[in-house]
Amino acid sequence: MFDWLIVGAGFAGSVLAERLARGSGKRVLLLDKRRHIGGTAYDHYDDEGLLVHKYGPHIFHTDSKEVFEYLSSFTAWRPYQHRVLASVDGQLVPIPINLDTINRLYNLRLTSFELEAFFAERAEKAPRVRTSEDVIVGKVGREVYEKFFRNYTRKQWGLDPSELDASVTAHIPVRTSRDDRYFTDTFQAMPLHGYTRMFERMLDHPNIKVMLGVDFREVKKSIPHEQVIYTGPIDAYFDDCYGKLPYRSLEFRFETKNTQVFQPAPVVNHPNEHPYTRVTEFKYLTGQEHPKTTLVYEYPRAEGDPYYPIPRPENAELYRKYEALAAATPGVHFIGRLATYRYSNMDQVVAQALGLYAKLTGLPHKRTPF
Ligand code: FAD
Ligand code: UDP
Repeated sequence: MFDWLIVGAGFAGSVLAERLARGSGKRVLLLDKRRHIGGTAYDHYDDEGLLVHKYGPHIFHTDSKEVFEYLSSFTAWRPYQHRVLASVDGQLVPIPINLDTINRLYNLRLTSFELEAFFAERAEKAPRVRTSEDVIVGKVGREVYEKFFRNYTRKQWGLDPSELDASVTAHIPVRTSRDDRYFTDTFQAMPLHGYTRMFERMLDHPNIKVMLGVDFREVKKSIPHEQVIYTGPIDAYFDDCYGKLPYRSLEFRFETKNTQVFQPAPVVNHPNEHPYTRVTEFKYLTGQEHPKTTLVYEYPRAEGDPYYPIPRPENAELYRKYEALAAATPGVHFIGRLATYRYSNMDQVVAQALGLYAKLTGLPHKRTPF
């Protein structure tokens, strides 16, 4: 008999398994239909011995000291500040758009002050910022928006930015400084030995049993348990009874090159050419020394594993119907990116999971020492 059956061994499920077992002495069964732990953040060594992220590049960044300290119980860190270049008009320029981006693209020598005026002249403010197009056109104007955002977004989402909620592009800043970091969070680092190793340490407890390659739907009736934490897609839990919630998927194509370094930045975005959106070279992220280097190319797909909930008003409405069903389902707690149909980063999911633990137990979620 388990106290808790937890579906999904990603951040949401693993943090709760760890807390309930180590923090509260509960007996936990953690299962995942994939054959590995770590969920979408899973990493592994490929055939050439290079550490890669199976489901695309995962860069850890957070402003939450609490989340960073919690995860630090299970991993040491490698300080890492992410940088991205975009291939636009035959040049590789920084994205987020900054002073160097505009000066290089237009062959100018603007100061930060002058760049503010440059943007102000071109920005078209919408009366109400509703869509992803409104966000960017309202900051930099239509021409720059079209070079960096329009085609990338159409490729990534199969929708025009004008058809997508503002939240998709709102977190990407536009800067008048030369700061070329992708993120500005207080804590930016990669788990020193990878995400999977961190998850292994998190789940290494006698009260946690992990079952992999098992679908919840096939075993839920046969495994005695008190309560459930469900981190898979919320529509699938209810057999898509109101219809499927739309998700965007990706296909990842990995390529190993017989050279130490292949591209001049960890990630190169390709908004306007190629069927893929971006190319990541993992060695920048992992710091691994190796004579070869592995890259991943991301090809957006309509079908496949559910990765990105698609934020549009009609989808939010459909989600609310499932959310109401979830609220009326006693003994089952829905949490994580897929179960809440929300575009959340890893740190937000960890914070959500720690919050749910506190709510379930009335205990603070501080880690009990090993
Ligand atoms: P998941 O990790 O998806 O875990 C859910 C698990 O549930 C899955 O393993 C699934 O197999 C399992 N499951 C589902 N249904 C069932 C079932 N019926 N039975 C058994 N198991 C089931 N975040 C960042 O902070 N930084 C980044 O750089 C970043 N990059 C990303 C890049 C990509 C391409 C994607 C897709 C996401 C990225 N994210 C990033 C987001 C990050 O992946 C998520 O925030 C995080 O992994 C969510 O954790 P989770 O536990 O909610 O979901
Ligand atoms: N985006 C874009 N051009 C870029 C980078 C991002 O149009 O060069 C848009 C695109 O719609 C993308 C969104 O901004 O889906 C969020 O970008 P982010 O890099 O955060 O994507 P993620 O890592 O979540 O896939």
